[in-house]
Amino acid sequence: MTEITRNYLKQLDAKDGLAKFRDEFYLTDDVIYFNGNSLGLMSKRAESSLYEVMETWKQYGIDGWMKGKRPWFYFNDELAELMTPLVGAAPEEICVTGSTTTNIHQMISTLYQPTEDRYKILADELNFPSDIYALKSQLRLKGFDDTALVQVQSRDGQTLLTEDIVAQMTDDVALILLPGVLYRSGQILDMKQLTTAAHKRGIIIGFDLCHSIGSVPHELSKWDVDFAVWCTYKHLNGGPGSVGGLYLNNKHHNHAPGLAGWFGSDKNKQFDMEHVFEKAIDASAYQIGTPHMLSTAPLIGALEMMTEAGIDAVRAKSLLMTDLLIELVTEHLVPFGFVITTPLDHNMRGGHLYIEHEEAARITKAMKAAGVIPDFRAPKGIRMSPVALYNTFTELYDAVMIIKTIMTEEKYKEFENEREIVA
Ligand SMILES: *Cc1c(COP(=O)(O)O)cnc(C)c1O
Repeated sequence: MTEITRNYLKQLDAKDGLAKFRDEFYLTDDVIYFNGNSLGLMSKRAESSLYEVMETWKQYGIDGWMKGKRPWFYFNDELAELMTPLVGAAPEEICVTGSTTTNIHQMISTLYQPTEDRYKILADELNFPSDIYALKSQLRLKGFDDTALVQVQSRDGQTLLTEDIVAQMTDDVALILLPGVLYRSGQILDMKQLTTAAHKRGIIIGFDLCHSIGSVPHELSKWDVDFAVWCTYKHLNGGPGSVGGLYLNNKHHNHAPGLAGWFGSDKNKQFDMEHVFEKAIDASAYQIGTPHMLSTAPLIGALEMMTEAGIDAVRAKSLLMTDLLIELVTEHLVPFGFVITTPLDHNMRGGHLYIEHEEAARITKAMKAAGVIPDFRAPKGIRMSPVALYNTFTELYDAVMIIKTIMTEEKYKEFENEREIVA
């Protein structure tokens, strides 16, 4: 392996086809932002699509629902179109609504129909807590306790094996929810193979795409996945708390929403104000209340940029960046006790790198003080996500050198080895 020099990375930047997008983001001088997996940066286009909605409100008041460049009543249609290449599904299978957690509640309450023999929900022990809380509360609502939730165990504490998940797809399992990319190790699960295995056993399966959407391509329709949910503030750069998304396979659109509300109505009937709910015929039936327009608006600009860049180009650059980061970390940081726990195989690696160190909490603080922004995941993980649309190859080198200095000069010892409230 040849040594990666800063000069070599500069050359990569010079011929990077996505480099032009960097200028569209608000970046801070002397800060290397590697936290796009938690909150993507603000772009000028997201800002202007937000202003556009505020302008419509200013000009038209209530009539903004039907007037202006983008009437709010039909806003979701355009967003569903923009989401199609990212999830690999038809627009009528997609709805931009709610948050990941509320969309999990909606999808589970819609699709989970336990019987005496088949009532368990299968998840994993490495998933994000909110998903697990939602699943447990859905079980409780149906009269079950936590023992009806089966969590696949990880052998190494970082990753899951397809065979271990499939082994748990027993006859008493009604539904499965798994992450597309694990939020810590960044492992991609084999969504296609898992879906086939679940369907062979008559089990409904869905994925939480929070850490894969906007970073990894999906083919939900082709794989015949039953449902999916995702947030839009991580790799999609929609802004803090921006509105999430759900996908429901066409074959399930006959299901009445588990959580019904008037915005799930057939649009032509919604304002008849009848007390009998007539659901929309597509995935928009699973919206509940009035769309949160100001948290939805930035997505137009953010997703247009993603469309122009193309998810395949984003994925190719992202993989190259994490490849290079792995090499740099191996050469310069592993000697200081860092361990890379992200899978090295391209098919198994999402858009971020997870490295562990006993002093991770205060190394993270020292990194932030030095202008490198990762995030810390207790007890000892540092997550770094070089983002294809706004990070450069040179930043990979600079960040690793900054961390190396923190280690050689033991600068992290100036900080407490405890996490912050929001870590
Ligand atoms: C980010 C994330 C969430 C957050 O859910 P919200 O409802 O948007 O707060 C949930 N699950 C996973 C796997 C995540 O990565």
